[in-house]
Amino acid sequence: MGCDFVKLAVPGVRALNPYLPGKPVEELAREQGLDASTIVKLASNENPLGAAPSSCEAVAGMMGELARYPDSSLYNLRDSLSRKLAVEPDQITFGNGSNDVLVLLAQCYLKEGCSAVFSEYAFVVYPIAVQAAGAESIVVPSKHWGHDLEAMAQAIRSDTRMVFLANPNNPTGTSFSEAELRIFLEKVPEEVIVVLDEAYFEYAVDSGHPDGILLLKEYPNLVLTRTFSKAYGLAGGRVGYSVSSVEISSVLNRLRQPFNVNNLVEAAAVAVLEDEDYLNRSRQVNQDGMAQIEAGFKSMNIDYIPSTGNFITFNAGMNGVDCYQRLLKLGVIVRPVANYGMPDHLRVSIGLEEENQRFLDALSTVKHS
Ligand SMILES: *Cc1c(COP(=O)(O)O)cnc(C)c1O
Repeated sequence: MGCDFVKLAVPGVRALNPYLPGKPVEELAREQGLDASTIVKLASNENPLGAAPSSCEAVAGMMGELARYPDSSLYNLRDSLSRKLAVEPDQITFGNGSNDVLVLLAQCYLKEGCSAVFSEYAFVVYPIAVQAAGAESIVVPSKHWGHDLEAMAQAIRSDTRMVFLANPNNPTGTSFSEAELRIFLEKVPEEVIVVLDEAYFEYAVDSGHPDGILLLKEYPNLVLTRTFSKAYGLAGGRVGYSVSSVEISSVLNRLRQPFNVNNLVEAAAVAVLEDEDYLNRSRQVNQDGMAQIEAGFKSMNIDYIPSTGNFITFNAGMNGVDCYQRLLKLGVIVRPVANYGMPDHLRVSIGLEEENQRFLDALSTVKHS
């Protein structure tokens, strides 16, 4: 008498807690009856400059191709990117955002009876991908909000097939050095794949941050993931990629949907890759905004976790969700991180100067009311 189609789902999927995205501006406008143009969204680590004009022009030039399937091999983007990164074109695997590649990696290399290791407070897509593949998650307690690489190496078991590292990590903004990474990689058995998620690499690159690409030759079990969503300003376009050995890439490509990246965003990505001015401005806006927000936190005596990304996580000094909701009423959207086990913290993305100020003013209002 009527099937329970939830019960019929595979166990890993049935028990999933879906990813919680940042609240869209339009949704808050509807809920609070606010004018969308007055709302500040600093909730999803998007590039506050908006997409590069070079990307927009490239998209406009592709409109005539909308009826065509995209190039499954992404020849143009693969060619530009492989030159830029100085890797072989076949080492790159594209995804509908790097999220897609993270899920693909788990699907290709994890199954029931296997485990994957990641840190407490690490990006929430890792447990989702691991669980959906039917594998077990081994969560290693963090050290000062960051990855405890020594403990992570020790947590690897004989059934462990994958380790996820985020550098910088989201939502804590912490990062580790090349020396620390190398010590870790030396301890990892050669058959265990190490996924190094570098979604914020372009922001962190100046602070003595490791470049995973330079380690690929030494560590064939290493896979890097990067994205056009953050510093390159194409979060809505959805394109990310991994760089790995040709062998691992060939495996991922067996399961990758042939048209997982559309032709409009491919053109946008090719254009912004050459747009050094945009990347430099993105970094500058981030650096200035980070300084502005840190100064604001200091003046309000707010405890925060120093960040190498384009966001910063702070202790709200009250229940994080309460603070979040009061900020929403003032038209400011930030990100609660209670689902990461950080109920007193909130994450705020670095915006333009006036957006950062709106956030700081709203936070001050909430704290003094
Ligand atoms: C934003 C983010 C990603 C991926 O985003 P996509 O838009 O899917 O490319 C991956 N890892 C971390 C840690 C992130 O914060």
